[in-house]
Amino acid sequence: MARFTLPRDLYHGKGALEELKNLKGNKAIVVVGGGSMKRFGFLDRVEAYLKEAGIEVKLFEGVEPDPSVETVLKGAQMMREFEPDWIVAIGGGSPIDAAKAMWAFYEYPDVTFEDLCIPFNFPSLRLKAKFCAIPSTSGTATEVTAFSVITDYQKGIKYPLADFNITPDVAIVDPDLAETMPQQLTAYTGMDALTHAVEAYVSTLHCDYTDPLALHAIKMIHNDLIKSYHGDLEARARMHNAQCLAGMAFSNALLGIVHSMAHKTGAAYSGGHIVHGCANAMYLPKVIKFNAKVSEAATRYAEIARFIGLEGNTDEELVDALIAEIRSMNEKLSIPTCIKEYEGGIIDEAEFNDKLASVAELAVGDACTGSNPRPITPAEMEKLLICCYYDKEVDF
Ligand code: FE
Repeated sequence: MARFTLPRDLYHGKGALEELKNLKGNKAIVVVGGGSMKRFGFLDRVEAYLKEAGIEVKLFEGVEPDPSVETVLKGAQMMREFEPDWIVAIGGGSPIDAAKAMWAFYEYPDVTFEDLCIPFNFPSLRLKAKFCAIPSTSGTATEVTAFSVITDYQKGIKYPLADFNITPDVAIVDPDLAETMPQQLTAYTGMDALTHAVEAYVSTLHCDYTDPLALHAIKMIHNDLIKSYHGDLEARARMHNAQCLAGMAFSNALLGIVHSMAHKTGAAYSGGHIVHGCANAMYLPKVIKFNAKVSEAATRYAEIARFIGLEGNTDEELVDALIAEIRSMNEKLSIPTCIKEYEGGIIDEAEFNDKLASVAELAVGDACTGSNPRPITPAEMEKLLICCYYDKEVDF
């Protein structure tokens, strides 16, 4: 038995934001990030539409990137005082992720992060409020997923929350909001979305419900990401949908070791963070080569390659064609080939080698490793990380 869960309603296309006028409720708290939604006038529009629906509005502003435990508890406190029956989260992944966690603490003030960290073990939500998510970036797809990541900066740990209870009730996927993304963010979030779809397609938990979403998302991203990066707004609008389809696939099929590695290398080094989407983009070609040693996975990568029009006579040729195509997309998006080249070399070689064993161990233990099509040992993970640092050929 498997479960497949999505938001009940998804409004998409230009102007979809206006659908907020039709929400039925009394009080809404609007959770938002650092200011771009305000600057571009979207926050004013959200407030105006909700008021038109007869809903009283309160704002929770200033959710930081990689939202903290403190922000979540502050938001939950505001919710307990205001008692909203709608939580409306708008922005990049962070405000939406933060609002999902606030929701749990609003409904269950005595719950702890440790409780919520146990996968698929949330208490039932929606006793006090429903949840509407409105994404402004085209990548994380948190508007349709069962996931949220909250950081405890004091303990230096990330809490990955996973439960279908936090899959939003309503998602509004309006391409107007994504028009404001800067170029590099477009590249990184777009490759994050491609990785979601590829990992979902080859995941051990993939199924007939997730496969078509993943494949179609891959085709769209392959067609539109480079154009969107160069400012084609129609392509950018299609990317907003494509990343959402990829989200529907991976929320239900889960991911693989590209994400395990991106999670555990992301904040491991003193030179700086490796941005999530960029890490995925660099690691994906290496992981495909590693996973393709399992013939079932190779067949599925070959299916992806054929589906996007690549050529080859055997699965092996098609897998290589797919790897070459992803590397070429990275090049067109100015994404480096390996960690050593990242941001002009900010990740120090000696530090990378010092931490290799511990990062490999953590990556093997990441929640995304379980659904990867090829099992991996810590020793293999070390070798794979080395290939990702130096852009070496994966041959094991
Ligand atoms: Fe991701």
